Amino acid sequence: MLSIKHLHATVAGKPIIDGLTLSVPAGEVHAIMGPNGAGKSTLAYVLGGRPGYEVTEGSVTFDGRDLLALEPHERAAAGLFLGFQYPVEIPGVSSLQFIRESLNTQRRARGEAELSGAEFIKLARAEAAELGMDAEMLKRPVNVGFSGGEKKRAEMVQMGIMRPRFAVLDETDSGLDIDALRTVGREINRIMRAPDKGVLLITHYQRLLDYVQPDKVHVLSTGKIVRSGGPELALELEREGYAEAAA
Ligand code: ADP
Ligand code: MG
Ligand code: MG
Repeated sequence: MLSIKHLHATVAGKPIIDGLTLSVPAGEVHAIMGPNGAGKSTLAYVLGGRPGYEVTEGSVTFDGRDLLALEPHERAAAGLFLGFQYPVEIPGVSSLQFIRESLNTQRRARGEAELSGAEFIKLARAEAAELGMDAEMLKRPVNVGFSGGEKKRAEMVQMGIMRPRFAVLDETDSGLDIDALRTVGREINRIMRAPDKGVLLITHYQRLLDYVQPDKVHVLSTGKIVRSGGPELALELEREGYAEAAA
């Protein structure tokens, strides 16, 4: 479904991704773990098409299409969702407005009818309820004044509404307490565990993987995958640290 081959990418002219190869078949959840500064967030930004992140070599295909040839909004319309380690705040735009506009833009791009205001609110309420979140909260400006945990839960509501085909989730577990972690893990499973969907779950720690069982675990170190294995690899990393496991 997502196939990354010999990817090299620079940020501000500095090489960060250095020959990364990774494939996620449909129906699978792959975890990427690795030390700080390894290039995990850079990989997420490159997949999303963020300006300033330049691919210098290699390829990325999504459902056989050249992902790198698509504009960021086209990637989103193709069903790619990015959850950020540091969600941006957008003063002046409510979360509901933002999500509705994103959803309808994607629906138009796919030739589907837009949702009416009433249909959208119904959907947003239902998805927020799954997260134990009051939809009223989504009337506030995007992420402004949200706690770390609230930002991540709002992101899950967004994912539930958007129903992407593939999600790249960058440290969705950061800033979550144990209960929120369980809720977010359950939501990732509910929304994304399906035969025609895939997930790249970027995380520092093993704990999220207790709730979202990965099919494969990869270790990213200095811009490339240095080791891959099953869920047991995450436990080994937790026990022995990255340096030991990557050696
Ligand atoms: P990780 O998410 O694995 O902790 P990042 O992808 O955030 O790592 O960062 C990888 C490397 O790229 C780090 O050395 C970081 O300093 C560098 N880097 C990231 N963004 C920028 C930037 N905008 N300008 C310069 N260097 C950057
Ligand atoms: Mg980091
Ligand atoms: Mg990061």
